[in-house]
This record gives sequence, C-alpha cells and structure tokens, in this order.
Amino acid sequence: MARQAYQYAIIGGGIIGLSTAYALQLRHPKSTICVIEAGPECGFGASWANGSMIHPSQATPWRDSHAPATDPALVRDIYQLAVRSSAILRARFNEFDIAPRHRREGCAKIYTDVSTLQTDQAKLQVLMALGLPTEFIDSSQIEKRLNISADGAVGAYIFPNDHSGPARLYCRHLAARLAAGGAKLMTANGAANIEGQDIMLQSGAIVAAQNIIVAAGSGSAALVNIAGQHAVRGYSRTFELPGHEPDFPVMPVMDDAAHMAIAPMGTHLRVSGGADPEPMNSPHHLDRHVIYDALEAYLRQRCPGLPLDNAPKSDWTALRPMSDQGPVIACLRDGLFVNTGHGHMGWTLSAGAADRIVDIINGAAA
Ligand SMILES: Cc1cc2nc3c(=O)[nH]c(=O)nc-3n(C[C@H](O)[C@H](O)[C@H](O)COP(=O)(O)OP(=O)(O)OC[C@H]3O[C@@H](n4cnc5c(N)ncnc54)[C@H](O)[C@@H]3O)c2cc1C
Repeated sequence: MARQAYQYAIIGGGIIGLSTAYALQLRHPKSTICVIEAGPECGFGASWANGSMIHPSQATPWRDSHAPATDPALVRDIYQLAVRSSAILRARFNEFDIAPRHRREGCAKIYTDVSTLQTDQAKLQVLMALGLPTEFIDSSQIEKRLNISADGAVGAYIFPNDHSGPARLYCRHLAARLAAGGAKLMTANGAANIEGQDIMLQSGAIVAAQNIIVAAGSGSAALVNIAGQHAVRGYSRTFELPGHEPDFPVMPVMDDAAHMAIAPMGTHLRVSGGADPEPMNSPHHLDRHVIYDALEAYLRQRCPGLPLDNAPKSDWTALRPMSDQGPVIACLRDGLFVNTGHGHMGWTLSAGAADRIVDIINGAAA
C-alpha cells in the first residue's frame, strides 16, 4: 500500500485545520505539509455557513455562555486569543482582497428580558476589565442604530471592535494559497485512525508525518482521546436579497434568549442559531424544518420589511466542536498535536489558535 511522508499532516480541512496548515506554511515555507479532509471539499463542516461573527466580545467557555463566568483566567486566555486572532483576520481580509461588501464592522447583542441582560452584564464586566469596548443602547435607540425592529427588547450592547466576514470564502482563499505554496490537500479520504506517526486513511492508504495535528472539529474525538469533548448542533438559513442591502441590519445582531443571530453578508442575509446537544457524530434526531422555520420567524420579527417570501434561501446544519475547558490547543505526545474544541468561537479564534499550535509544535521541536 502507498505510504506518503510529510513533515506536517493536518487531519481536518475546516477553518481550524486550514488555518493551522497556513500558519505552518508561513513559518516553514520549505516544509512538506498535507491536509487530510474526509469531506468532498475543505471548509464544508461547521465552517461552511456559520454566523460570520468575529466576536471577542463572546469570549466565554461554552459551558458559561448563559451563566456568570466561573473561571476568569480561562476567560482572559480566550479573550486575548480572540483579540489577537481578530487582528490577524482583519489583516488577511485585506491581503486576500476579500471585498468590503462581505464584511461589517461591529456586532451587537439585543436583550428581551432583564435577567439575560443582567447575567450578560456580569460576564461583560470581566471582559471590559480586560479592555473590551462596549456601548449600551436603550430600546428607543435600537431601530435607528441597528436597523432592526426593537420589538420586545429592553436594550442592546454594541461591540465596536467585533467584526464579521465570510468564513467559507476565507477557507477557499486559504486552500488556494496552501495549494499554491506546495501543500497537498487530500479530500474525500478521511483518517480512520492514528498509529504512532502513521495515519491510516479510509481508502487504506497510509500517510506518515513527523508531526500530526488533529483539527477535525467534531470528528477529533474519534481519533484522539481528549477529555470533555462534545458537539452542539447549530443551524442557519440564508436568504439571497440583492438590492435590499440598505434594509439589512447594519451589523450582525445576536440574541441570547432566542439563541439566534442575524448577519448581513454581502447580498445575503443569514439567520443562525440553535443549540442542540448531541453525542459526537450521532444521527440527527430533531426535526430540522421546525428549527429552520423558527429561525425564519425570528428574522421576520426583527426585519419585518424584507421580501422573504420570494427570496431564494438555503439551509445548513453542522456540529460545533465543544470542549468543557475552552479550546484544546495542545501537544498530546511527541509528534501528536490537537487544535479543536473552539465551540461558538471557531471562526473568531481560527487564526490565533493556528499561531498558538505552531508555537507549541516549534517549542516541542526545539
Ligand atoms: C450555526 C453556527 C453558527 C456559528 N457562528 C459562529 C460565529 O458567528 N463566529 C464564530 O467564531 N464561530 C461560529 N460558529 C462556530 C464555528 O463555525 C466552529 O467553531 C468552527 O467552524 C469549527 O471549525 P473546525 O475546523 O474545528 O470544524 P469543522 O468546520 O467542522 O471542520 C472539521 C473538518 O474535519 C473533517 N473531518 C472530521 N473527521 C475527519 C477525519 N476522521 N478525517 C479527516 N477529516 C475529518 C470534517 O469533514 C470537517 O471538514 C458557529 C457554528 C455554528 C454551527
């Protein structure tokens, strides 16, 4: 059986795997790198049609996302990584020439009950002490400032340093640059298991690598033993509404009580959300149409003037790779590394997490 050898093999071609491969290519341009992706294309998993928000303002471990922060040191680490990552992503959007129409400055969060607002305020205090800029607006300002209906809202926070952009398009740019730099992207041939420095592929072929980095999102736990991994399913419905951009919200708007977010993306408007816990890779058990319809109903409530009835729309669902302890960016043993568990922050943290794992790999080699 064919056996190919590389210096770096990354398992998983989502936003985290591609970012890891790209960070390695930038720092070690002469090295041999391969990305092993089970799906037909890179960037097809949770990175495909996510909420688009690059939001250090949401830097909490998933377990605390609707409760007061329980571990300030962990929150600080995630926040600082998110800020660094966000800055790298801004620079890359310019470098990759991602058109301004795909991007928005700022994210907002709307509150429809006082208790959710108070819980979030307690969490935001921790982030504000770390430097997160925020602006609170009362319900009378919501429509004017955000261009969404304030129906039932008690107030909103604006996070001016957050921003948004297309994760899917960014993945395409990363894949193209990796290929142009000589990296091998293998698709439709996932890793079945890892033995020493050998990766057994589903096709039966073997890939050997001095350094194996597992970045397979919700598929990571099937390959390596990492404590506290689980998956939470999310959904999005995206409408094509060219010509109606002036009626879109001016920036992505989250709503924790509804578990939903609305994001303007060029000529598209996306509503995403849902937090449906599932065992890793289980067959899906809820009726998806109910959830997509709930997403659309929320969008209709917040953006009542848009002609959604006749607009083309597409639905999407994926598993967020979750970890109890925040992202797992670590060396598991000599030559085996992991970069996963970024939960609701994977797009935000992608570039920073990639830099961090490369630091760890380089440190292990030194
Ligand atoms: C509805 C929703 C909205 C979201 N909104 C946001 C947001 O606004 N901002 C934000 O920061 N984050 C958001 N996220 C989270 C973010 O999308 C994820 O954290 C991120 O995409 C995870 O990236 P990943 O590369 O780890 O996983 P994935 O994108 O799932 O990629 C993993 C890849 O590994 C492959 N794979 C799996 N097993 C194997 C194997 N054995 N061999 C080879 N390949 C394998 C998969 O096919 C997949 O392509 C959202 C997520 C969802 C679901």
